[in-house]
Amino acid sequence: MTKKVVIVGGGLGGLSTAMKLAGQGYNVNVLEKNERAGGKLNVRSGKGFTFDTGPSILTMPWVLEQLFQSVNRNVHDYMKIVRVEPQWRTFYKDGTTIDFIGDLPAMLEELKKVEPKDAEAFFTYMDYCNRMYELSTKSFYKQSLDGLSELRSLHTLKELMSMDPMKSMDHITKKHFKNEKIQQLFNFLIMYIGSSPYHAPAILSQLSYVQLGLGIYYVQGGMYNIAKGMLKALSELGVEIKTNAKVEQVLTEGTRATGVRLASGEVIAADIVVSNLEAIPTYNSILDEYGMSKKAAKDLEKYAPTVSGLVLLLGVDKEYKQLAHHNFFFSENPEREFHQIFNEGVPANDPTIYIGVSSKSDPSQAPAGKENLFILTHVPPLKTGETWATRKEEYRELVLTKLERMGVSLKSHIEFEYIFTPDDLRELYGANGGSIYGVVTDRKLNGGFKIPSRSKVVENLYFVGGSTHPGGGVPMVTLSGQLTADLVTEDHGHHQRSIG
Ligand SMILES: Cc1cc2nc3c(=O)[nH]c(=O)nc-3n(C[C@H](O)[C@H](O)[C@H](O)COP(=O)(O)OP(=O)(O)OC[C@H]3O[C@@H](n4cnc5c(N)ncnc54)[C@H](O)[C@@H]3O)c2cc1C
Repeated sequence: MTKKVVIVGGGLGGLSTAMKLAGQGYNVNVLEKNERAGGKLNVRSGKGFTFDTGPSILTMPWVLEQLFQSVNRNVHDYMKIVRVEPQWRTFYKDGTTIDFIGDLPAMLEELKKVEPKDAEAFFTYMDYCNRMYELSTKSFYKQSLDGLSELRSLHTLKELMSMDPMKSMDHITKKHFKNEKIQQLFNFLIMYIGSSPYHAPAILSQLSYVQLGLGIYYVQGGMYNIAKGMLKALSELGVEIKTNAKVEQVLTEGTRATGVRLASGEVIAADIVVSNLEAIPTYNSILDEYGMSKKAAKDLEKYAPTVSGLVLLLGVDKEYKQLAHHNFFFSENPEREFHQIFNEGVPANDPTIYIGVSSKSDPSQAPAGKENLFILTHVPPLKTGETWATRKEEYRELVLTKLERMGVSLKSHIEFEYIFTPDDLRELYGANGGSIYGVVTDRKLNGGFKIPSRSKVVENLYFVGGSTHPGGGVPMVTLSGQLTADLVTEDHGHHQRSIG
């Protein structure tokens, strides 16, 4: 008999699990509490400006290609994925700028301008980063891992040792480059997963290969078109996506999940429940009737949340010629910045600021002669009882003043403004502490592992998304969806159904 799967949450993790399981013949329902699916990948518009409210950079598009292939479809029939060059423009306090350029000889010249001796190490460094990526394709990107012993079973000892398990990403950067600006440049790629280069394991150096070797991408018409493409494929596969459908309770019989109850009171029975709400909030909020779930949440404390963020969406009445599509305005002292955010748990007083201007690549996103600025500053996740309500205005001022000092004067040019605080990220998506990328990647705290996708406490309950293996960011959560679907079929078998 066809098994019924209920997916709690229509973020990219949930949608991707739904696609893969529907392709394997499961009867799948997605329940999304908000008015639109997509989760953190979302959209907001006003006064002629359109903004992606979450992800602005797509990496590793092969993950989307693989997902669509799994249901006999071509992702490029569902969305137009285009490469972005230059990839990032970075600005330093002394006026230096360095572009990330996917054309490697041009990137070499860019580094030579800053420090010729460091440029000599560039290709050796890229070779290392490439190896780290290749190693991950044998394990992290291939199956849902629940810890070190599974990782060990997929690699030879030599491979495991070549991952430099005792070293951090920062160790590797500093081994290759002596110039502090170049160190800051490569270390900051960790922003893709909202962790610290001083705490993340060396294998994360692969982010340099992901960016420079594989390229970075945008989806024409706005990043939300990724969600739209997935929703179209899901509708073709007959999956029902119910929006404004908040799950209030995962129902259990003994220790077995049997369905969910919505806030409306409606009960939906299921053989399998997959939660796209992060694992710790799942145990704490929608399984909280049971003592066992409190303990489960406690056992997961080493899976601390990543950074949250303050997001300013600004529609401005002019074009900033010095900006590229993606821009980073660096802090003067990255060690202090990361120390404040990750060790002290306070917002940095000199934060690195990201500005994305998708209208640079896609004029449909802003009126002619104007631009849509997405400004993101990473801040610590919320602690219990903490709120940004009292801090928001002050930090907005700090961000705009820093940008003004670095040559981007915005205040008198704002026509449209909307702000997302960590409180909003927690309220809107249920994210633990308002985390942007799920669980932090920390060598000492959790070895870089995420929460296992198969619940160890409740049978037939699975997790998907940024808090689970392999982690946060668009490609990782989309992969997480596929790997969680693989666990479900491993436990419950395939159904015979041809993919329509
Ligand atoms: C500001 C910002 C910038 C980012 N930039 C990038 C970037 O440039 N590149 C990149 O790769 N990634 C980026 N990310 C990260 C990326 O967006 C996330 O990693 C990814 O979208 C998370 O997907 P998910 O499926 O794990 O979770 P979510 O998107 O959080 O989905 C969870 C879903 O579950 C729903 N839900 C929660 N509780 C319930 C309930 N009780 N009942 C029903 N539904 C429920 C939520 O509404 C939500 O739709 C960014 C994120 C943010 C916020």
